[in-house]
Amino acid sequence: MYDFIVVGGGIAGLELGAMLSHDGSRLLVIEQAQHIGGRSFVHTKDGFTLDNGIHLVRFGRKSAVAKVMRHIDREIEFVPLGDSYLVDEHNKFILFPTDPSGFLKSKLFSFGERLKALGVMLKLRRGKYGRLEHATVEDWMSNEKIEDGLRRYFMLVCASMLVCPISSVASAKALTENINMVLKSGISVEYPLHGWQKDIIGPLTGIIMKHGEIRTGVRVDSVILENNRATGVRTKDGTISAKNIIIDIPSQELAGIMNLKDIKDERMKTAPGLVPTSGISIDYAIDGCITDISGLVYLEEPVGFGCFVSNLSPDAAPAGKSLLTWFCPVHNEEMKQKDQVKNYQKKLENRIETVFPELGTKTIFKRVIHHAMVDGVELNINQLQEKRLNYAINGIENLYIVGDTTAAPGAGGDIAHESSTGCYESITGRAV
Ligand SMILES: Cc1cc2nc3c(=O)[nH]c(=O)nc-3n(C[C@H](O)[C@H](O)[C@H](O)COP(=O)(O)OP(=O)(O)OC[C@H]3O[C@@H](n4cnc5c(N)ncnc54)[C@H](O)[C@@H]3O)c2cc1C
Repeated sequence: MYDFIVVGGGIAGLELGAMLSHDGSRLLVIEQAQHIGGRSFVHTKDGFTLDNGIHLVRFGRKSAVAKVMRHIDREIEFVPLGDSYLVDEHNKFILFPTDPSGFLKSKLFSFGERLKALGVMLKLRRGKYGRLEHATVEDWMSNEKIEDGLRRYFMLVCASMLVCPISSVASAKALTENINMVLKSGISVEYPLHGWQKDIIGPLTGIIMKHGEIRTGVRVDSVILENNRATGVRTKDGTISAKNIIIDIPSQELAGIMNLKDIKDERMKTAPGLVPTSGISIDYAIDGCITDISGLVYLEEPVGFGCFVSNLSPDAAPAGKSLLTWFCPVHNEEMKQKDQVKNYQKKLENRIETVFPELGTKTIFKRVIHHAMVDGVELNINQLQEKRLNYAINGIENLYIVGDTTAAPGAGGDIAHESSTGCYESITGRAV
C-alpha cells in the first residue's frame, strides 16, 4: 500500500511527488510515456540538450520551482537573461524593455510613449486597473489609448507571457496581473544554470526514488472511486492501491480515466472543456556561436520569440557549438488546420533564417515540433482561475489534482509549478 500514487510524471507531479517523498511518504509515480517530464521533457541529441520548446522560469530564483528545490534541499542557481530585442521589418535590432529603465532607452517608443509606458507601469504596479474580468487585452489597450510602439510592445508581451497571439482573445486581467507579478518580484524570466534535466528533473527523480518508485511506459486506465474515496488505480498489469491519489494530467484528459458524472464538484463541468494554448517550436543546433545575445529576440511577423539557450547555459550545447530555440504561438483553433500550420512554419523558418543568415550554412540539425498543447489553459476571459480545478476535489476524500490546468496563480508553466506548492499545502496543511 503506497501513501500516494501520482498519475502522470509531468513536472508538476514530479515536484509534488519529490516534496512528499522528501517528507518520508511512500510514493509511486505512473507515467504512460517511456520518459518522465511530460511537456517539460528534455531530449538530448548529438551532445545538445533540447528543452521541449523554450522553457524559461518566470521569477527565476523567486519562482515556485525555486521554492520546491529549496524545500527538498536541492537549491539551484538561476541565470538572468541579458538584453532582449525586437527585430523590425528591416532586420534592425531594437531594445525590448524588460524593466522600467528599458522604456527610457528603447527606440521602440516616441518620447510621449515613454512617459505613457511609465504611467501604465505605475498604474499596473499599484493595481489601479480595477475590475478587468470581462475585458480582453484589445479592449484594455483601446480604453487606455495604447497605440503605436506601446501597442506593439503589449502585443508581444501578450504573445510571450500568455502564449496568446490574439489580443481580442487574451484576458486583460490575466495580462495586467501577470505583469504586476513581474514588477513586484523584480524578475521577468531566468534559466536554470545547468538546464532543466540536470538542475530540476534529475534531482526530483532522485528524491522520489529514495522512498518510492517511478514506472514509465504504464498507462493508468482508471482511478478507482468507492464510497467517495479514491482507493487505487487500474493499469494493464492490475490494480494498485494507495491511501491517496494525485492526478497530474491535464483536466481535458480526465474523462479518459474517471467517470466524471460520478463527481459532484461543480468545476468538473467546465474544466474538461478548457482550451489550451498551442504553437510551433524550432530548435537550431548550430556549428559555432553566431551571437552573444542572451535575452529574448522577438519577431512580429510571424509573432514569435527565440532564445540562444547555450548563451544562458553552456551545458545546452557541446563546446564551440550553440543552440537556438524559437517559439511561435498559434491559436488552438488555427493549430488544427494542418496545411495552414505547415505554411506558417515555412514562413517562420524563412523569417528566422533572414534575421540570422548563418543558420543557412551552420545548422547541424533542426527540430520542428507542432504542439497541440503548450500551456494547459489559454488565459482568455472565460478561463480564469475560477473555471479551473481546485487541488482537492469536492465530494471525494483523498483525491488531489495538480498541474497547469488547476486554479493556481500565474500563466502557463508558472501554474504547473505553483500548483505543486499549493497542492502540497492542501495535502499536508504546511506551506512550502
Ligand atoms: C513548447 C512549449 C514551451 C513552453 N514554455 C514554457 C516556459 O517557457 N516556461 C514554463 O514554465 N512553461 C513552459 N511550457 C509549459 C510547461 O511545459 C507546462 O506547463 C508543464 O510542463 C505542465 O506540466 P504538468 O505536470 O502540469 O503536465 P504534463 O506535462 O502534461 O504532464 C502530464 C503527464 O501525465 C502523463 N499521462 C497522461 N495521461 C496518463 C495516464 N492515463 N496514465 C499515466 N500517465 C499519463 C503524460 O504523458 C504526461 O507526462 C511550455 C510548454 C511547451 C510545450
